[in-house]
Amino acid sequence: MGEKKKKIIKTIKVDVDKCNGCRACELVCSAFHAAPKYSSNNPARSRIRVIHDPLRDIYVPVYAGEYAKAECMGRDKYVIDGKEYDECAFCRSSCPSRDIFKEPDSGLPLKCDMCEDDPPQEKPLCVQWCLNDALIYEEREEEVEEEVTQEDVEIGLEAMIDKYGLEKVMDTMTRMSLAKKV
Ligand code: SF4
Ligand code: SF4
Repeated sequence: MGEKKKKIIKTIKVDVDKCNGCRACELVCSAFHAAPKYSSNNPARSRIRVIHDPLRDIYVPVYAGEYAKAECMGRDKYVIDGKEYDECAFCRSSCPSRDIFKEPDSGLPLKCDMCEDDPPQEKPLCVQWCLNDALIYEEREEEVEEEVTQEDVEIGLEAMIDKYGLEKVMDTMTRMSLAKKV
């Protein structure tokens, strides 16, 4: 059993009924993550995207979540209050099946980092800029088991062993360490 430690869980509650699709959240997020900071804005670089379809009165902000190496074999499709949403509309993954949550130039995955900053922001910027209070920031403290984090070297070695087999990796390491001693 690991040690218990306190962890702050940060959440942004989305009140879809209050969103009017202004997309200020996309604007400020992309500006905050520009390099240098605030030097440009481009919603394609935002870690929050607003599904918007004014003709059907649809505005739903969705946050960028985990990177997915492969696309799902199946697809989600939701109908809520009689409104049908596109396939995968609410999925937060940066995945090969679509263009959102990818840095437009490099194609690298984007993920919401809650506006990590030094000094820390009082609240995530999308929350600060949402004048309709559709995004509500909440923090709570939880006791969690201390995670055993895998060192980078361990993760790298594991990948090499998966690819080349343990014996080959061991042989190579022995050969390299002998060469270093000479
Ligand atoms: S800033 Fe608020 S109201 Fe505007 S699109 Fe984003 S969530 Fe919706
Ligand atoms: S919390 Fe920050 S990083 Fe995440 S979507 Fe909002 S502005 Fe972007």
